[in-house]
Amino acid sequence: MQAFVYTAAPARIVFGAGSSAGVAEEIRRLGLSLVLVLSTPHQKGDAEALAARLGPLAAGVFSNAAMHTPVEVTKNAVDVYRAAGADCVVSLGGGSTTGLGKAIALRTDAAQIVIPTTYAGSEVTPILGQTENGVKTTMRGPEILPEVVIYDAELTLGLPVAISMTSGLNAMAHAAEALYAQDRNPIISLMAMEGLRAMIEALPGVSAQPQDIKARETALYGAWLCGTVLGAVGMSLHHKLCHTLGGSLDLPHAETHAVLLPHTVAYVEEAVPDLLAPLAALVGGRAGTGL
Ligand code: NAD
Repeated sequence: MQAFVYTAAPARIVFGAGSSAGVAEEIRRLGLSLVLVLSTPHQKGDAEALAARLGPLAAGVFSNAAMHTPVEVTKNAVDVYRAAGADCVVSLGGGSTTGLGKAIALRTDAAQIVIPTTYAGSEVTPILGQTENGVKTTMRGPEILPEVVIYDAELTLGLPVAISMTSGLNAMAHAAEALYAQDRNPIISLMAMEGLRAMIEALPGVSAQPQDIKARETALYGAWLCGTVLGAVGMSLHHKLCHTLGGSLDLPHAETHAVLLPHTVAYVEEAVPDLLAPLAALVGGRAGTGL
């Protein structure tokens, strides 16, 4: 066995259909008193409903989260957060909303509770990508990692099938690249394979029956594992390409991953067939054949 270093990121994961009903409890458990709820414009209604349920614990809603975390949006959100006197953000949505929560936390030390509604996985990584003047830069740090993640599959039932599939492939890309990461280790490889297995099991079910809560739960479980490995080991060719293309040309994130993934994995497999053989077996392909 090759030598390795394994560093676990602290995380409180609350998983279960209906679990987002416990968000007020999580706020109090962290000793916090006032949250700003974040969303994209598309999920503004859901964010407002959540804020209404939180009553006096919610300072309000900021619903301008956008793909690739534009710095000018973050500046506006920080102004709203500070003016409200909040001590926590609740990010309700996909990677774009989680990214905004991380960017606010970086600038204000806000605590973060994330309720993910896609499979992007950002909620369990200490990574923040931000865009300014068409250039996307990425940073990492413990202050970026959200404190609590609530995975409630009921909130993913409305995720359109097309976004579910591309988002699922985005998650699988994290796990595929973890298998051949230079700093890979046995625990992360186990998580990566289980994340891939869960996604491969779930996505056909989500596609056939988007309201199937079991398939949605399995996909969310896979997203958690795939996100965790993204946060733990270095990503390679595939993520670098997506990052450069997405940030420079403002391409949609998950779609870019979905389109590139088969090509990048097939390309890398020629160099590291042994490391990708377990994935080839999982998808029923043969090693050495581009899966
Ligand atoms: P997204 O967050 O932009 O969501 C896409 C669209 O789907 C949005 O309009 C959103 O409101 C809508 N949506 C989300 N959940 C929904 C639901 N359940 N029902 C209906 N509509 C819903 O897309 P994404 O792919 O989740 O995130 C992409 C962003 O996340 C990119 O900026 C990417 O760089 C970032 N990201 C960061 C990391 C990290 O670790 N830092 C990891 C993955 C992705």
